[in-house]
Amino acid sequence: MRIHLRGLVLALTIFSAVVATANALYASYRVQREQLIANTLEANRVYAAKLAESAGAFLKTAQRQLEYSARHLAARFEVPDILAAEAARLQEQTDSFNSVAIIRADGTVLAASQSLRGFVGTRVDNDGSRAALQARKPLISKPYVSLSGNLLINVSHPIHADNGRYLGYIAGTIYLRSEGALHMLLGKHHYQDGSYLYVVDQEGRLIYHQDTARIGEDVRSNPVVTAVMRGQAGSQRLVNTRGVDMLAGYASVPLSGWGVIAQRPAKATLEPLDDLIWALVKYAAPFALAFLLAIWWCASKISQPLSQLATNVEHQEVSVAMQRVQSVKAWYFEAQRLKRAVIRSFTNLQDEIGKLNQASITDPLTSLHNRRGLQAAVERLEAARAPFAVVALDIDHFKQVNDTYGHTVGDEVIRGVAQLMRDCSRPSDVLCRNGGEEFLILLPAASKKEAANVAERLRKRLETHRLHGTAGITLSAGVAQWPSAGPEVHAAFRAADEALYVAKQQGRNRVVTHAA
Ligand code: GH3
Ligand code: MG
Ligand code: MG
Repeated sequence: MRIHLRGLVLALTIFSAVVATANALYASYRVQREQLIANTLEANRVYAAKLAESAGAFLKTAQRQLEYSARHLAARFEVPDILAAEAARLQEQTDSFNSVAIIRADGTVLAASQSLRGFVGTRVDNDGSRAALQARKPLISKPYVSLSGNLLINVSHPIHADNGRYLGYIAGTIYLRSEGALHMLLGKHHYQDGSYLYVVDQEGRLIYHQDTARIGEDVRSNPVVTAVMRGQAGSQRLVNTRGVDMLAGYASVPLSGWGVIAQRPAKATLEPLDDLIWALVKYAAPFALAFLLAIWWCASKISQPLSQLATNVEHQEVSVAMQRVQSVKAWYFEAQRLKRAVIRSFTNLQDEIGKLNQASITDPLTSLHNRRGLQAAVERLEAARAPFAVVALDIDHFKQVNDTYGHTVGDEVIRGVAQLMRDCSRPSDVLCRNGGEEFLILLPAASKKEAANVAERLRKRLETHRLHGTAGITLSAGVAQWPSAGPEVHAAFRAADEALYVAKQQGRNRVVTHAA
């Protein structure tokens, strides 16, 4: 079972279309995907940088406020009411701090905003206070857990007397977990699409995260966190501590050594692309179907002439097959060539058959009809019920001709007699060599008399003719007619033979007409 041309063309077209389309889709998918990833990385980088800048600006403002108060309080450090009023003002007037305290050089709380009132007069000893007292310069503490259980950072500024003596410091706290200014700054910014923001301190611990339970968690294993801890900024695709593929942008806050990281799951970023590709496939499907139908149609048109040629060539009768092949519409070059070749070989075949047919009814020596040719002519006349006269001829004493002149001359004599027969007859007469030196002439529509005249004329011509140097060659003839000799055609032939026999008996070189 071979493949059909139509199927082959269709398969080939589908294959190349699918390969081309898949290739184009894949290429566009890759390009779009890379574009999306690059865009998201860039957006996150810019966003992280922007927020790092905002956070830095916020911390700087907080420090300025404390600096102002520190300068203002230096001369009035011994007046508790002024200290208390300044602490209250700072906490209430600005949004920067969750609480404010003024600490003496020995660690005693001199004044505090509302929430820390109870600690006034006591000595504080925590990470923030120890660092501030020790450093005696503006400081942003590491995040730590306060006595009241809040995770916070301490922003402090030293207070120096005019003569340069260290008096203590003023500090504001910023809570990291509960609503505070920093929380407001960062917390409003996570989007719906899975993007979010987090901030780490200089030791790689979370100080801001949308999931507040994770604040304080060590996330140094995240490659972006280590980068941002080194003060770098940029963007990167990474797998985060939870095993999620992320597109992250990051920037550091130099003032505090923090890092801000904005990130979005790669999956969320790339999801629309899959939808896009599917939509593309969906919209392309009807066109693809129409395309396939068109190809199917074209393939049919291409294969049609070939299959028609094949079917028609198979027809048993050459002439019918040839007619049908002629009617095939070969609309393209190769089919046209094939059609021409088929027609040419059919024509040759017909010629050959014609020649063979002719040869089969012709006597090779004389080119007259042979017995088979005569038979066909008789059948035609009989079928048409067309009357005819028949003349049976036989060369007299032909054995002697052969004996005298040789067999070759004998043949020439036979051919000469055949030529004389042609000369003496009409085109409608059927001339036949019946075998040896015997001949038959059918004369359609002729009477016995007319036929006898023809035979007589022939006899006379031969008598006077010197064929190939011979002399005295004669013939005898018997004439009969159908249907007067009998209803069957062979009765007429038998009658002609009988008349010929009589002619031989009566001395040869004569024409005898049968009585019937
Ligand atoms: P008759 O007058 O009684 O017809 O005598 P005949 O010799 O012609 O009679 P017969 O039929 O006995 O002899 C015919 C001879 O014709 C016999 C044969 O040698 C010769 N013959 C038959 N066919 C051919 C042929 O094709 N070529 C030649 N050269 N001779 C042939
Ligand atoms: Mg004979
Ligand atoms: Mg003879």
